[in-house]
Amino acid sequence: MDKRANEAPSSNGTAGPRTDLISADPSERVAADPIYEGNVDTDKTVVVCGAGGFIGGHLVADLLRQGFSAVRAVDIKPPNQWFQKFPQADNRSLDLREKENCYQALEGADQVYNLAADMGGMGFIENNKALCMLSVRINTHLLMAARDMDIGRYFYSSSACVYNQELQSSADVEPLSEEDAYPALAEDGYGWEKLFSERMCRHFREDFGVTTRVARYHNVYGPFGTYDGGREKAPAALTRKAIEAKLSGSGDIVIWGDGTQTRSFMYVDDCVDGTQRIMHSDITEPINLGSDELVTINQLVDVIEKAVEVDLEREYDLTKPQGVDGRNSDNTKILNELGWEPPTALRDGMEVSAEWIEEQMRRHAEQETTSRFAVAH
Ligand code: NAD
Repeated sequence: MDKRANEAPSSNGTAGPRTDLISADPSERVAADPIYEGNVDTDKTVVVCGAGGFIGGHLVADLLRQGFSAVRAVDIKPPNQWFQKFPQADNRSLDLREKENCYQALEGADQVYNLAADMGGMGFIENNKALCMLSVRINTHLLMAARDMDIGRYFYSSSACVYNQELQSSADVEPLSEEDAYPALAEDGYGWEKLFSERMCRHFREDFGVTTRVARYHNVYGPFGTYDGGREKAPAALTRKAIEAKLSGSGDIVIWGDGTQTRSFMYVDDCVDGTQRIMHSDITEPINLGSDELVTINQLVDVIEKAVEVDLEREYDLTKPQGVDGRNSDNTKILNELGWEPPTALRDGMEVSAEWIEEQMRRHAEQETTSRFAVAH
């Protein structure tokens, strides 16, 4: 089942762990060449919505690294709360649920990436369905602005949560191909909003001529993301717990569900790479962007144990949300269309992510000790 955990990624073509694209610091990444083919004018304005978030921050970093000279980064959060922020970008704090803010955000833009959404891991999306549905306002108003302002290309980040849940009721799941979204039975709340917004993109393309592109992301992980506070996803949450177990010396970890549920996880650099390839392709229908390296949650914990260098005593909490039983990405279409699929092996990506999370946790612990010491004296 764990196809590549111990091998070099297939499409990389080289032996050994892939480290060339892996760095916790995006400005240190190699290969400054554009990652897609065709004529893309790097002087035109590119807008990244949701730029203060996990994937949006990496996308801004990558666009700057490739030489885009006018990158506008937009997020509802105040800039001091962004996961990554770059002085070279035009950084703006705007609530994109509001129509007038979308027009302001897209002024003079050529390309728009919409990665803004109110979202989180299973713990968040199962308990905040209305909030997730309200993200429909962001994509709707951005599309209206894109139509009225004659934007060149518009990308929407959808999710594997659009897929029919009845096809995901076994851990030994068939990889989900693009047609499996219909007949529709998406993840309640979050998944339905994504499916509706995908269709909005399609109808704005068909009826108003907006050039829209849609990718269905499958679980993305990596450095500069949420690892605590309630919105974190499984790889970051389990890594944080493993590091806590190591630092406290307890070795105990609580896993949500029975650990047999299966998923695939895509390293964030691959997500950013694939997003731009899809944006500049001719692919008009929603397409999977995910790893097809299927692992059980227990196997993910094995990988984390090695990355964190800790021996864990596992306990299973069956009262917590665990999502569907199995989910994997069928990459036939992306391979046919782009001759590419996410190349980073889980083991390699998790090593970088775990290192980054541990560094953050140690730094916070030190800061807390210092401020407690300051108060005591
Ligand atoms: P994230 O939560 O880190 O980033 C989303 C950003 O959108 C946040 O910074 C948030 O402040 C911002 N935002 C929310 N409401 C906003 C508003 N009204 N106006 C402006 N900004 C607003 O999430 P992420 O992991 O970077 O995900 C990016 C996109 O990819 C989202 O659309 C998400 O649904 C989709 N996606 C992510 C994953 C994943 O595994 N991370 C999987 C499938 C789909």
